[in-house]
Amino acid sequence: MSAQHTAADELEVWIDQELCTGDGICAQYAPEVFELDIDGLAYVKPPVAAGEEADLLTEPGATAPVPLPLLRDVVESAKDCPGDCIHVRRVADGTEVHGPDAD
Ligand code: SF4
Repeated sequence: MSAQHTAADELEVWIDQELCTGDGICAQYAPEVFELDIDGLAYVKPPVAAGEEADLLTEPGATAPVPLPLLRDVVESAKDCPGDCIHVRRVADGTEVHGPDAD
């Protein structure tokens, strides 16, 4: 990572559970970020220290930061998501950079 890394580079991800099919692809690709809840739908979760359990963020539209080392896995999840419901956006201005609403 360059010293130029700034808040402008930071990304966050959210899932539109209304469209989630519950197939679990995202949780396979990036289990540190995505997890299926008891309702069978996927939710994001915040990063935690090794060995700790993260609480799923179950509020509609809840976002979790995308850790840089997991960016590729998160982007692949968004690409392969059958529900087209994983949205990755820039924290700085809310622009979607990966997902169904990205340019
Ligand atoms: S890949 Fe998409 S549709 Fe499948 S569980 Fe994850 S969010 Fe839901």
